[in-house]
Amino acid sequence: MKHIHIVMIGLLIAGTSCQAQEQKQEQAQIQEENCGDELMLAKDGSSVSTVKSASGESMSFAIDKNNDEWKNELSPEEFRVLREKGTEVAYTGKYYKFDKDGVYRCAGCGHTLFTSTEKYHSGSGWPSFYAPAEEETVVTQRDESHGMVRVEVMCANCGGHLGHVFEDGPRPTGLRYCINSVSLEFKEESDNEE
Ligand code: FE
Repeated sequence: MKHIHIVMIGLLIAGTSCQAQEQKQEQAQIQEENCGDELMLAKDGSSVSTVKSASGESMSFAIDKNNDEWKNELSPEEFRVLREKGTEVAYTGKYYKFDKDGVYRCAGCGHTLFTSTEKYHSGSGWPSFYAPAEEETVVTQRDESHGMVRVEVMCANCGGHLGHVFEDGPRPTGLRYCINSVSLEFKEESDNEE
């Protein structure tokens, strides 16, 4: 009788340990799947939205908000330019004649886009830069609106419309990023660390 008891207890322990192992494996699998999902998320944990460019290719942006949300956050003019691809009237923008040292962030999402180092006076009527702060801070797409073929410049973080880029800029790039002041928010150099 004693032997039977010992065998039964042994089987029970073996069964429990097997079950625990299975649970551990299941947990590991769930963790692995979650890690995979995290690759689809932006650094700040928000989901990635995807829009189609004029040429049909997909573009993804970390900031995913609908028009109602943007309307609540932006001024009517910011919404018209950033979200509806409008253009501010030439020579009227707050950063057209503006030479302070600092960075220009996206007025929609705060992403750093340009710096005063690359800003220059193009005479076009809009703030002009010969390069973005970093290559990946902006994205571009072909724009065939208004009977012209241009290259649109957008914030790489939220997809907000910034302006257009032309190939008549100064050295070293030969590019002119023609940007609406409305799409930008300037921060002086000393404020950059916040
Ligand atoms: Fe942005």
